[in-house]
Amino acid sequence: MRRALVIGGAGFLGLHLVERLIKDGWVVRVFDMLPSWTAAVEVEYIRGDLCKFEDLRPALNEIETVFHCASPSPASNNKALFYLVNVTGTENVIRCCRYAKVKKLVLTSSASVLYEGLDIVNASEDMPYAKRPLDYYTETKAIQEQLVLEANSDTLYTTAIRPHGIFGPRDPQLVPITVDTARKGKLKFTIGNGKNMVDFTYVENVVHGHLLAEEHLEQVDGGKGVASGEVYHITNDEPVAFWDFLGKIVVGLGYSAPKYHLPYNLVYYIACLLSTIVWMISPFYCLKPTFTPSRVALAGTAHYYNCSKAKAQLGYRPLVDLNDAIQKTIRSYPHLHADSFIKRN
Ligand code: NAD
Repeated sequence: MRRALVIGGAGFLGLHLVERLIKDGWVVRVFDMLPSWTAAVEVEYIRGDLCKFEDLRPALNEIETVFHCASPSPASNNKALFYLVNVTGTENVIRCCRYAKVKKLVLTSSASVLYEGLDIVNASEDMPYAKRPLDYYTETKAIQEQLVLEANSDTLYTTAIRPHGIFGPRDPQLVPITVDTARKGKLKFTIGNGKNMVDFTYVENVVHGHLLAEEHLEQVDGGKGVASGEVYHITNDEPVAFWDFLGKIVVGLGYSAPKYHLPYNLVYYIACLLSTIVWMISPFYCLKPTFTPSRVALAGTAHYYNCSKAKAQLGYRPLVDLNDAIQKTIRSYPHLHADSFIKRN
């Protein structure tokens, strides 16, 4: 039986990956820093910090493939932590894989390593990394990705998957935060004309991309496969207008879609002004505004990515189309529905 370790396996993507691996007959071990394992699946759970050699190295015994999908949340806004986990922690993952003679390492990177806050249209993997990344989290994701690809060798085969805008059941961020904003009556406006196209990728499709990349790391008769040392965009292959997508989610959960448009440049200018004020008063007050220029850019520009390379080299096709994915996601959040909120209050 094939044995995998999922680092970050208690997280949103990680747990979906664990479930699919079990379904496919793998023996799965989970490594995560969360204190307890609450999922309904039976796996060996090891609690530890991926930055610590003494925690991670024993977890790799008899493991053939490591899936590394752990990261601090971008919302934590903690520069030191981003560097510690995404850069030095990933160096530790690579070191431990070498010590334990792990054969394959699959990293969850992010398509946002290319994004500078300006429109990105149908970008392929050969586009250079962002010179001015949107934030420090993304900067460390780009360094992390390069570390993993450079570690590719005749004894450790590595690959990186770049998803974008992952959504689906149990996502703790996108749907709950959007619904909360709608519930508070703050989702009335689009930033820009509402037509900016982006990728939102259903979590099962992201998992599928990881497994195909893993499969193509090695040839059937041994030796490096086509995916070794390579990076792949994994998307739903159906770019959608950012505000249409959010509108479908909130309408499906009983709220109204945003109706009015605010000019992008005006909103961006106000966010820059606010950030400057926050920076000026930072010696006296510590404020963490959520209305930042980078968030305005994410909501008001185009950013979608071409997944032809994954299709051609890995045979990737999304398993769930966008419409079905949205419906499945909506059905998985009955507790966030407006009716259920009214009943509870
Ligand atoms: P998540 O926060 O739900 O899961 C991350 C997991 O990593 C958590 O369970 C956390 O406890 C664990 N972790 C963090 N630091 C650790 C450490 N030092 N040691 C051990 N475990 C640690 O995040 P997610 O949304 O599932 O994202 C998974 C991966 O996908 C991340 O690498 C992220 O950068 C990438 N990604 C996510 C998205 C998205 O839209 N969610 C988009 C692109 C890329």
